[in-house]
Amino acid sequence: MCSSDLDGETMKAILKQGATLATALLTVTTLTGCGENSSTQQTVSPAAAEKESYNLRLAHTWPTKFPIFGDAIHNMATMASKMSDGRINITIDSKNKHKAPLGIFDMVKSGQYDMGHSASYYWKGKVSNTLFFTTMPFGMTAPEQYAWRYYGGGQELAEKVYAPHNLITFPGGNTGNQMGGWFQKEINTIEDLQGLKMRIPGFAGEVLAKVGAKPTNIPAGELYTALERGTIDALEWVGPSLDLRMGFHKIAPYYYTGWHEPATELQFLINKEKWASFPADIQEILRVAMRTAAYDMYAQSQHESAKNWASIKTEYPNIQVKSFPTAVLQAMKSANDTLIAERSAADPLAKEIIDSQAAYLSTARAWTKISDQSYFQTVEALK
Ligand code: CA
Repeated sequence: MCSSDLDGETMKAILKQGATLATALLTVTTLTGCGENSSTQQTVSPAAAEKESYNLRLAHTWPTKFPIFGDAIHNMATMASKMSDGRINITIDSKNKHKAPLGIFDMVKSGQYDMGHSASYYWKGKVSNTLFFTTMPFGMTAPEQYAWRYYGGGQELAEKVYAPHNLITFPGGNTGNQMGGWFQKEINTIEDLQGLKMRIPGFAGEVLAKVGAKPTNIPAGELYTALERGTIDALEWVGPSLDLRMGFHKIAPYYYTGWHEPATELQFLINKEKWASFPADIQEILRVAMRTAAYDMYAQSQHESAKNWASIKTEYPNIQVKSFPTAVLQAMKSANDTLIAERSAADPLAKEIIDSQAAYLSTARAWTKISDQSYFQTVEALK
């Protein structure tokens, strides 16, 4: 027994990192040769030799303690730490700290931060093909899109888009189908959208511009004030999972159903050089932590949406839930198709992504219809 070779601090450090006493003693015995070479013990800390730390800094787009989105980030970091036995430590900075909610792409690309959490379509003004990896108007639902991303070539295409920018992106949590937004006035015809100033990011914003509205993107923390002060006339954010606690119903009575974000996937971003510097086990732990946190956010979103939707009728009776008239939706779908065709013609990589999504949607939707849709109809018919 060579436990006398251990100084108190070394033992404390080993035990703090979760090793059992027996493991600690065995490890140090192995490393030091049971005191036969005391110089080894002095120059190589057994704890350090056993565990290399990976300290990562993550910046995200959302305010401090933002629910659901923020939960996904913290879940990922906690899982990564536990699965690595404390080797991975992720420090999380909200937009309140770094002051650049829409600067995540640049900060992770440059290495100012190692990781990020945001939404891919926020970067379409910088790298246009990033817009395809959040959600697309009239596109796939969350199960269909996850299937495309993980099994239908989506992740490979995302990596193709981000790699030239020293970035890797992974799914970062899905909100499920989003609501169409909060409006101060009813939308009865396409004319009602003319000149309408609306916060709506991504490709849906381009579609609205095409039919005469004035879309803009505003970070989450500024949405309420912008609508209240009339900087914008309407906004979309997420859905009942997050909208009600933002208070939009106090300043806009009409709540429209969705068409524009059927499967909004957030993203984890990682600096590519940093990622490449990690050993395989650390990469895999991070990959599993991100994937699990993303799936978990989808489940949490479903839970919060259903719970909060149920509360609308009892707690917020003044909210008027509407759907856009068919003629308005047809105009938006037509604009969507025109814009997609233009992008496809202008950029080979955009065409590759668009073709991949369209082909996958066609196949996946046929199954969704015969499975989920038929099931809904069957069950509804029994009521
Ligand atoms: Ca949204």
